[in-house]
Amino acid sequence: MTSFLTNIQSDKDEYKKIIGEVTSSIADTFADERAYAGPTPEELKKIIHQDSILPEKGIGWEKTLELTKEKILPNLLRTSSTDYMAHLHGPSLVETIAAESIISTFNQSMDSWDQSPVATEIEVEVIEHLCRLFRYDEKADGVFTSGGSQSNQTAIIIARDMFCNDILKYDVKKIGINEKCLKLRMYTSEISHFSMEKSAHILGLGYQAVVKVPVDSNKRMDIDALKSLIEKDKKMGNIPFLVVGTVGTTDFGSIDSLKKISEIACKNNMWFHADAAYGSGVIMSDKYAARISGIEMCDSITLDFHKMFVMPISCSAILLKNGKNFSALTIHADYLNRKEDEEDGYTNLVDKSIQTTRRFDALKVWMSFQMRGKDGWAKLINTSMENAQYFYKMLKSDSDFEVLTEPEISSVVFRYSNCKDDKTADRVNKRVRRSLIHDNGIVIGQTVSDEKTYLKFTLLNPLITQKKLDQLKDLIKKLAVL
Ligand SMILES: *Cc1c(COP(=O)(O)O)cnc(C)c1O
Repeated sequence: MTSFLTNIQSDKDEYKKIIGEVTSSIADTFADERAYAGPTPEELKKIIHQDSILPEKGIGWEKTLELTKEKILPNLLRTSSTDYMAHLHGPSLVETIAAESIISTFNQSMDSWDQSPVATEIEVEVIEHLCRLFRYDEKADGVFTSGGSQSNQTAIIIARDMFCNDILKYDVKKIGINEKCLKLRMYTSEISHFSMEKSAHILGLGYQAVVKVPVDSNKRMDIDALKSLIEKDKKMGNIPFLVVGTVGTTDFGSIDSLKKISEIACKNNMWFHADAAYGSGVIMSDKYAARISGIEMCDSITLDFHKMFVMPISCSAILLKNGKNFSALTIHADYLNRKEDEEDGYTNLVDKSIQTTRRFDALKVWMSFQMRGKDGWAKLINTSMENAQYFYKMLKSDSDFEVLTEPEISSVVFRYSNCKDDKTADRVNKRVRRSLIHDNGIVIGQTVSDEKTYLKFTLLNPLITQKKLDQLKDLIKKLAVL
């Protein structure tokens, strides 16, 4: 059995049979509302262990499906459960799961036009619309990436290269980093995403290049501290080249003051990148979009569609205010993206990407945007933001809980605090979280702030109701006093 979908009827039947059986098995897995069946790491290891996953003779489709149904499907995390709210990791909208099926069936690769003709044109069109949505003008451009980390890394590479070219008059792309490059400094809040340090490392600048700016009591970058750190570095002979504003911090959803940071970046000839991996979804809500205003002033923006936009992993993009700057990543190969293609009107998207073979993720955005429209999207986003507001108010009015900041997006960080001291509260909150996972199938987040352990609800799922949040609060109280 070769099993490819072709124009032959028996192949089509086989395709429909296998995909149909998988679809039914997946749906049957959702037998209760829990997010997780509960096994511990050890139990899982036992359940999945096989003497060989490469038998001498294959066991065929039916048995393979049986094994998958027995060992894997029941133990997968059900991200669409309203009991799942641990991370910026959401459920997948059903139309985007359908898109995934088109994506993998046709298996287009976005590097060159001849591997993805209509897919290339769709990605170009989706990117154009995204640029308008974020109020960039027609000079802007963008590309889909594997995730927010790669979008950030792409922005940092381009920022570094453009700064070296324009200001230092040094072609780092050809020559590599020199002594002067080791003095380059980028500024980002102390609670920004760790892809900043990872990128600095990969770029050969090292963690030393990342200057962590303290945050204020609302977990936003402290602007005065940013100013003085830049001045201090300049005096020491370091070279500030980039500021990253976080639009929705991973833990708190706090949003840095983009307008104020933009002024500072401008004054110092620095690139200004917006890491909106989390907060980009806010743009879909007329009611709340003002919270991320100023994003259009940034030189580049990271968007994630697999977070607030609740689409399957992976789906992310990087937008550049001036699309020409993608030239930093362009390199021609005779076997792939010939210069003459461009002249003849064939777009090879690999010219803008650090990936080569790349998925047709833009289809998910294209289908879902059209299906739901601005109005449908606003409802999704508003619900998740208003749930966070509600839960925050509930906790605030209950003396058994301490809640950190008022949510700007959809995350609430809090702890059960009716304990004799902080250390006891740390233990109790950790125990509550474990018990929620293994005894109740409820998966929530945990983090640390000011050396204290907190619990976290990341309310991406618009199916979560206020009643559900009330029940969860009661359950946490009950578990805390056990
Ligand atoms: C999640 C996140 C990232 C990383 O995005 P991935 O898609 O997980 O690679 C970057 N920045 C912020 C603020 C995030 O929340």
